[in-house]
Amino acid sequence: MLKINEHYLKLQASYLFSDIAKRVAAFQEAHPEMDVIKLGIGDVTKALPAACVNAFHSAVDEMATDSSFRGYGPEQGYLFLREAIAAHDFQARGAEISADEIFVSDGAKCDTGNIQELFSVDARIAIPDPVYPVYLDTNVMAGRTGAFADGRYKGLVYLDSTKENRYVPELPQEPVDLIYLCFPNNPTGSTATKEQLKSWVDYAKEHKALILFDAAYEAFIRDDALPHSIYEIEGAREVAIEFRSFSKNAGFTGTRCAYTVVPKECMAYDSRGGEQPVHPLWNRRHCTKFNGVSYPVQRAAEAVYSAEGQAQVRDLVGYYLKNADRIASAIGKLGYSFAGADNSPYIWIWGDRDSWEFFDMLLNKAGVVCTPGAGFGKCGQGYIRLSAFNSHENVERAMVRIKKALS
Ligand code: PLP
Repeated sequence: MLKINEHYLKLQASYLFSDIAKRVAAFQEAHPEMDVIKLGIGDVTKALPAACVNAFHSAVDEMATDSSFRGYGPEQGYLFLREAIAAHDFQARGAEISADEIFVSDGAKCDTGNIQELFSVDARIAIPDPVYPVYLDTNVMAGRTGAFADGRYKGLVYLDSTKENRYVPELPQEPVDLIYLCFPNNPTGSTATKEQLKSWVDYAKEHKALILFDAAYEAFIRDDALPHSIYEIEGAREVAIEFRSFSKNAGFTGTRCAYTVVPKECMAYDSRGGEQPVHPLWNRRHCTKFNGVSYPVQRAAEAVYSAEGQAQVRDLVGYYLKNADRIASAIGKLGYSFAGADNSPYIWIWGDRDSWEFFDMLLNKAGVVCTPGAGFGKCGQGYIRLSAFNSHENVERAMVRIKKALS
């Protein structure tokens, strides 16, 4: 008799976005005349930058001729892309990262979800609350938690992100081994300063812990004082893995390309306390379970780093940031307190009532879809998240409707 992995049974039954989709579908059925504006899910809405599309097309043409056709590529990614990433995203910012420390993949979701496989099942895990749900669920699946009770899984250390700490959690009171951090943050839109990241790096060094730093929204940083990468912090090469994605900067959510940086100094420990570099372990995992991102997609991603690609990506991100600004100003004028919007595509709004109640109210009175904060964790209760990923026109219409509904 085949037994299942019972840890899966601990997972909370419905995934946040499918719950939202069900409520929206029910609303649309009841109000077919209403044109619902979606500011909920964090998917981009604008086309790929022209530089990426052109590179994509030429790479597809290469695949159409025997002499330039490519079959399986290197699992870690083609050197042309890894070198461009290392030079532009890290070395240009004074962060010492080399091409062979970069692993190209088909998504930061997969990488942030898969990385935990390298570590022991009894590793003590610290996870922010509220949080991008993938970090949490993949640790539940792996058996690192107890049951779910009172809004939380037993056995995890939750890092509360609240109004009081401006949504940047404090260091844990107890020792932990693996720490998930995400800045600019999804869902709160908060950012971390160099000093704040330094305190986490120092903590990790002291406790022989490792930081998993998700920088999927790095391109939205406009404040020059903020770090774009954790490797801008001294000592981070020894204690941090960083995740990046082309999804939100260049609109690759449907095209799929991302990467993970594993510096060669990053260590975990075997049962005798001996140092084990993480780089070869991730390399082994990647090569065993993944067969590389397609050649045309990697060429399209490489084009992000061309001069025209850089300008187009900046414009694209600027377009969404303008929406974020419009949302923030409308919400602020209505008297609601919020975080995010500068340096982030998310606006995290304190609704002063149950998150799902606020969600239903916005849907029913304004025909606008948000994401209830409670879906991101216990500390998200009372909040909603609005996303800037939509057209200027839709954001404008949504703000007019929200103003009418909330005034
Ligand atoms: N990390 C965070 C914090 C995200 O919000 C998302 C997507 O919304 C991802 C990772 C996923 O990125 P990708 O599209 O590269 O899988």
